Amino acid sequence: MSSSPEGTRLAQQLRFDQQHIWHPYASMTQPSPVFMVTGAEGVRLHLAEGQQLIDGMASWWSVIHGYNHPRLNQAAQQQLERFAHVMFGGLTHEPAVELAQRLVDITPRGLDRVFFADSGSVSVEVAIKMALQYQQARQRPEKNRLISLRRGYHGDTFAAMSVCDPVTGMHQLFKGALAEQIFLPAPSTPWGEAINSNDLTALEHTLAQHHHEVAALILEPVVQGAGGMRFYSADYLRHARRLCDQYDVLLIADEIATGFGRTGALFACDHAGITPDILCVGKALTGGYMTLAATLTQAHLADTISSSGAGCFMHGPTFMANPLACAVACESIDLLLEQDWYSRIQQLQQQLRTELAPAAQLSCVSDVRCLGGIGVIELHQPVSLQQIQPWFVEQGVWVRPFGKLVYIMPPYIISEADLKFLCAAIIRVLQRL
Ligand code: PMP
Repeated sequence: MSSSPEGTRLAQQLRFDQQHIWHPYASMTQPSPVFMVTGAEGVRLHLAEGQQLIDGMASWWSVIHGYNHPRLNQAAQQQLERFAHVMFGGLTHEPAVELAQRLVDITPRGLDRVFFADSGSVSVEVAIKMALQYQQARQRPEKNRLISLRRGYHGDTFAAMSVCDPVTGMHQLFKGALAEQIFLPAPSTPWGEAINSNDLTALEHTLAQHHHEVAALILEPVVQGAGGMRFYSADYLRHARRLCDQYDVLLIADEIATGFGRTGALFACDHAGITPDILCVGKALTGGYMTLAATLTQAHLADTISSSGAGCFMHGPTFMANPLACAVACESIDLLLEQDWYSRIQQLQQQLRTELAPAAQLSCVSDVRCLGGIGVIELHQPVSLQQIQPWFVEQGVWVRPFGKLVYIMPPYIISEADLKFLCAAIIRVLQRL
């Protein structure tokens, strides 16, 4: 770090950061290094020391159009000049209405009631509350548990944690405080195949055995993200939908990561042609500009909740439908739909497959897999983030592995040359392991 006044100020800020600021899943006694970002443009992050990194993470699935996009900036600025926020109780505004219209249009048919939440985890809380309130309203209060999938991840708030994979730290740490849910084995049918008998039997048996006490089955369609970056069969979803109908259990699709084109369909449920009863979206909803999520449901469900004893749905956050975030989300959806997003994701998938293929030859690698705009390299052993993160930065790329997984989901606008560079840099780093 340079000894210029700027360099000194930066060093002080980084020191303060390490001593006082929690980062995601971080220790305050053994903080991991953090890198100071001073700008971001397109697919490049600019670091304080002058280095530029090609971003492979799209800031955790969200920045699909790249950073500092003129149209998203303009949408935020124009709304800022009108008003930044108003409460949503008793008031509404054009950005919220426009966004709800777009979401109703583009999500699977039948989802036409929209609840705006402030983050992905909160949209999952809302989905679970909707499912429970719905069963209450139907005089079925005993249907108050959830079925979830092993390897699932749905967020860090309490109800969301209760439906995350039960062997990760969360369930152990918060034992007694988390609702006890029912877990299916993680789907084992690979992407592109018809459901295998193990998966079908597990689905059938679990629903048959527990439906009388279950409000909903929750899953991440097609891609289990934080629980292992596993891709599974769309046919599994079709059967999940059929069996949920048969056993009077709601289906909640968490598309917080997969929504808005990432898997090669606008929503991952579209691969199976199904409509869930409840759908959660977030992350890429605003092109990664602001925190906003939404929970959509079907009219009959919303009507049942609304005409029940409570007479209302019990949730109403202060920053619900923040107008800045809604205005940017509208623009982000327009940007996505104006382009041939389908061909773009197909190109990304093709290039990811080609460029990451050589990684399969490395002795540390156990599997390489790609779907849509997602590329995953699974290693035999977990990597130390402390060790490997600086190597990626040295190579000029931003990649943040976890456990055995080195994965990328770059902004959709990444050029062929930049994606080539990104993949080659990853392979160079893995060669050092
Ligand atoms: N569900 C899924 C599938 C996710 O990937 C995430 C975020 N990693 C969440 C829920 C939680 O979203 P948020 O971090 O915005 O609370």
